[in-house]
Parts: sequence; structure tokens; C-alpha cells
Amino acid sequence: MNIQSALSEANKILAKNNIKSSKLDSEILLSKILNKDRKFIILNLDKLLDYAHYKEFKYLVSQRLTKKPIAYIVGKKDFWKYEFYISDGALIPRPETELIVEEVLRIFRYKDKLNVLEIGIGSGCLLLSILKEKKYFKGVGIDISKKCVDLSKINALKLNIKNRVKFFKTDVDNFFYDKYDLIISNPPYIKKNDLKYLELDVAKHEPRLALDGGIDGVSEIIKVIDKSSKLVKKGGKLILEINFNQGDKVKNILRRKGFFINKVLKDLGKKDRCIVSTKL
Ligand code: GLN
Repeated sequence: MNIQSALSEANKILAKNNIKSSKLDSEILLSKILNKDRKFIILNLDKLLDYAHYKEFKYLVSQRLTKKPIAYIVGKKDFWKYEFYISDGALIPRPETELIVEEVLRIFRYKDKLNVLEIGIGSGCLLLSILKEKKYFKGVGIDISKKCVDLSKINALKLNIKNRVKFFKTDVDNFFYDKYDLIISNPPYIKKNDLKYLELDVAKHEPRLALDGGIDGVSEIIKVIDKSSKLVKKGGKLILEINFNQGDKVKNILRRKGFFINKVLKDLGKKDRCIVSTKL
């Protein structure tokens, strides 16, 4: 069997099972098996695929049929300018979270040194992307999940910034270390009752811990704001990712905790996605 037939077979099965990106997914999975990039695959469609590789490919396709996200199957995901290792204990990096990186780089374009805290690091993609862009920034990241802390450490090592970042496995409530110029967070913000409406890929495979924002969707955001009001320096910034319909509620919570609202950033779908605030 050649590459083309293997791809078209996989594409057909995936499409029949309602996997929307069936063609792209087939190509990514075969790239993983052959340890080549997608360009190679597309340029070598008539190359023969040996049986061992074909069998491995079929296995990965069968995993995708369970709606397991591609990032978990191949163990990596691009975010900002870098590639991150990903495992199923961590939320898969989303493009909308890059808004925070962009905004931080804009706000602090003339700053060389900064002490940054991230609450809820997941794979570490957000904090590490910022540190990678700003050579003298220092970071601390916390997460309640040990898997996430371990994964972030591996990613820090991979990006060669392990000496400028510390990670702690802790609940936000029990963390009292240092004062920060900037705190960033993409906390779980989906209402508990809405989790079942998420796409199956997300609902079945991504960690509840990273998604479940309690009955009202803002319980974790409130914890993050409470703690940040104590850990951020006066005049320091807090930047949060939120759900599209939480803007007004979160702005009010921030104001009550002594923050000035600088702006609300919209994602590509023109929905409220991030709030930038300053501690008064
Ligand atoms: N943006 C994610 C989603 O919609 C949710 C991330 C979060 O809860 N912080 O799947």
C-alpha cells in the first residue's frame, strides 16, 4: 500500500465517524508514524508504506475515532511561536490564549525585567512563551495538578528557560510566595452544567480540572482574583482569560477587589476573551 491509499482509507473512516478535519488529521497522524513533516507526506504520495508503519498508523487512526484530540495522540501542539509537549493531564493550548501573550508583549515592550506569576499553568505554554520572548523576565507558575507541573518543567527544559522559571504544585488558596508585576491566568471558566455541551473531543478527553468553573462558571476566577489582589504589586497588572459572556461579571469582581479595568480583548470571533486590569 502506498501513502496515498493509506491516507484516503483513514480519511474515509474518520469522515464517516464525523471527524471534521479528517484529511488533515490523517496527514498529521501519518507524519507522526513516519517521523516526517506534512510536506514530506504530501510530496511522497506514491511512496510505499511498509506493513509495520501501516499497522501503527491504523492504531493511531483508531484512537482518533474515539474523539481523542490529535494533540494528545501525537503528544505536542504549537502555541505562539513554539512547540509544546502535551499530555492528557493538561488542557490543549488554544489559539485565543495567544491574545494574552500579544498583550503582555505590547504592554511591557519597554520593560526588560519583570516578575511574572501564572496561576494554573497547564502545559506551561502561556508563561513559557512570554519568558521566551523576554530574556530577562522571571516566572513562577503554579498548578494543582502534578502532571501539569511535570509537563511544564519538561517544556521549560525544551525551550531552554529552566533557570528563569519555578513551578509549584499547589492550590491557589495555599500559595503566598512573593510579589509580582504581572499575574496571568486562564482559569477553568465553563459552568459545570454546560460541560456536557462541549465538543466530544473536549468533553471526553480534556481534564475537567482545567474546564470546570463551578455552578456559576466564575468560582475559580474569583479565587484567582482574590489571591492576585494580595500577590500583585501596586500598579501591577492582572490579565485573565474569561468566557465570552463573563465580561461584566468579572469586571465587577475585579473592581471590588481594587483593580482598575484597562480593557477587554476580543478573540477572532469578536467575543470578549480577556480582561486586562491594574491594581490600584
Ligand atoms: N476555552 C476553553 C474551551 O472552550 C476553556 C478553557 C477554560 O475553561 N479556561 O474549551
